[in-house]
Amino acid sequence: MTRTIQSVIDTILQSIPGAPLADTVDTFKSGDPAQPVTGIVTTFLASYAVIQRAAELGANLIITHEPTFYNHLDETDWIKDDPVYQAKRALLDAHGIVVWRFHDHWHMHQPDGIMSGVVRAMGWEAYLPDATMPLFTLPETTVGALAAELKAKLGVAMLRVVGDLAMPCRRVGLMVGAAGGTWQIGFLGGQSMDVLVTGEIHEWETCEYVRDAIAQGRKLALIVVGHANSEEPGMAYLVEWLRERVPGVPVTHVPVGDPFTFI
Ligand SMILES: [Zn+2]
Repeated sequence: MTRTIQSVIDTILQSIPGAPLADTVDTFKSGDPAQPVTGIVTTFLASYAVIQRAAELGANLIITHEPTFYNHLDETDWIKDDPVYQAKRALLDAHGIVVWRFHDHWHMHQPDGIMSGVVRAMGWEAYLPDATMPLFTLPETTVGALAAELKAKLGVAMLRVVGDLAMPCRRVGLMVGAAGGTWQIGFLGGQSMDVLVTGEIHEWETCEYVRDAIAQGRKLALIVVGHANSEEPGMAYLVEWLRERVPGVPVTHVPVGDPFTFI
C-alpha cells in the first residue's frame, strides 16, 4: 500500500487527544502532502543543512518542531524578496520536500512528547512525582554537578548558570523551549524549587528575576541550556514513536545542532 504524506500526518494526529486544533502552527510549510511518502526526517528545526540531509536520505517529509522561515507563524510576505529565504524555498521545491510542523500537538500528546524524550535522555523517569508537573526531586546534588550532568546527557557544548555552583539542590524544574518570561517566572514563583532548567530566555526577564531572588537571600539558581539543546531529544524520541505507527516508512532523526560557536 502506498501511503501519502497526508495519511502519515492523519495517523499522527489520531494519537493526540484533542487533535486537530483549529488554531495551530502545526501546518504544511512547503510541498504537496498528496504525494507518496518516501521517508521521514524528524528534527528540532528544518534548517538548510537539515533539508540537504533529508534530500540525501531520499526523504520527502521533514517533521520539524520549530519554524522554517524565521518567525512563529512561518509568515513569508515580509521576507519574500530575501535571498536566504528564496534559496531555502528553492531547495525545498527542487526536491519536492514537504515540511510539516509538529509543535503544539507534540506538546499536547499525553504525556508531552518533547518532555518524554528529554526525561528519557536525562534518565530522570523515576524522579518525577507528578507527570503533569515538570518538577523533579533528584538525589541531592549541586548546581555545578547538575549543570555537568545536563551538558553530558544532552550533548551540550556550553550552558549558562545564574547562581552559586556549590549550592546543594534537589528540586529541579524543567521548562524546555522558550516558554517566555511570564511562564518561566510564574513557574518559579508558584512552585518550590531550587533550580529552574530552561531552554531559551530573554536575558532581561527570567535571568533578572533569579538574580533579584538570590540578592534577597533566596536559595535559587537558573540553568539555561539553549533552545535546540533543550528540545532536540523530544524530536529524536519521535522516531521511535513514529516507527510503531508508520511501519515500513524509513524514519531518521537529523539533529539541527547548536548554532553557536563559543569562544
Ligand atoms: Zn517545544
